[in-house]
Amino acid sequence: MGARPAVRAADGCGRARPQDRRLGRCGIAHAVGALRLGDTITLLGTKGGPAIYPGPDMRMPTATLIELAGQRIVVDCGLGVTRGLVEAGMRLPDLSSIIVTHLHSDHYLELGPLIHTAWTAGLKTPVSVHGPAGLSAYWHAFQRSMAFDIETRIADEGRPDIDSLVWIAPMGEGGFARIGPVQVSALLNRHPPINESYALKFEAGGKTVVVSGDTAPFDGFAGFARGADLLVHEAMIAEGVDRLAARVGNGARLKQHLEASHSDAEDVGRLAAEAGVKALALNHLLPVDDPAITDTVWEKAVRAGGYEGPLHIGRDGMAIGV
Ligand SMILES: [Zn+2]
Ligand SMILES: [Zn+2]
Repeated sequence: MGARPAVRAADGCGRARPQDRRLGRCGIAHAVGALRLGDTITLLGTKGGPAIYPGPDMRMPTATLIELAGQRIVVDCGLGVTRGLVEAGMRLPDLSSIIVTHLHSDHYLELGPLIHTAWTAGLKTPVSVHGPAGLSAYWHAFQRSMAFDIETRIADEGRPDIDSLVWIAPMGEGGFARIGPVQVSALLNRHPPINESYALKFEAGGKTVVVSGDTAPFDGFAGFARGADLLVHEAMIAEGVDRLAARVGNGARLKQHLEASHSDAEDVGRLAAEAGVKALALNHLLPVDDPAITDTVWEKAVRAGGYEGPLHIGRDGMAIGV
């Protein structure tokens, strides 16, 4: 993996990549800069939901790169994942493991384009893709939609059969995969109306990273995340969601959905404290286009829940060492 510019301000409050203006101001507690220190979680896309908006702090939908014990695992493939990985210094032909938490478009819209782009970049080795039932249908339909291009490139450029490189694997609760030394396990979370939606846990070399996926608070998650070195959790701010609902056409329905299936930042703080996690990063932020919802507002909400440890308010490209 290529080196990224190393930036670590003396106060620990530098931007992950200051040349990237989309990063805007720094988070609250700080993601280490971009030295390849080994085990690193990079938040590639940090907004909740599929729509994207212009603005100085523009964020893309959900995608995260887990680098643990020498493995690279892509979690969720929202729009922008391919660019995010390249900006994080990853060579696309090195793509090998992908996990999709659930089948909302902001988590897999760019899965096909990511694999296809890796293939045109020289991918020759297998890629495993774990995800809920239905992902296989998406992948095969994607290939059909691109059949002319794929067949042309195989015949004209001598590329390998893309279908033979990709293994779509089901997943379920409990330990469902071992990726090199990384044990990966899943827990069904609470994300109505979707039943098959997962939180994920990655364990290797004595380190544990937990990703909440999209979820409302539910019994059992604190135990799943107990003592994690890093918890990456989705978060929303209730009053921001009120204003978001007022701005869009189907406001009441949208608000109802968001409240039933996502977690308020204060609840996230409560949960992080209960689980005793060593660090917390917020992603899948809702809303992201409301100037009144500043980093200070996010932090205040989390602290109100009782969590006092290191806190990272996610920004696209933020790299967090574990
Ligand atoms: Zn989502
Ligand atoms: Zn979702």
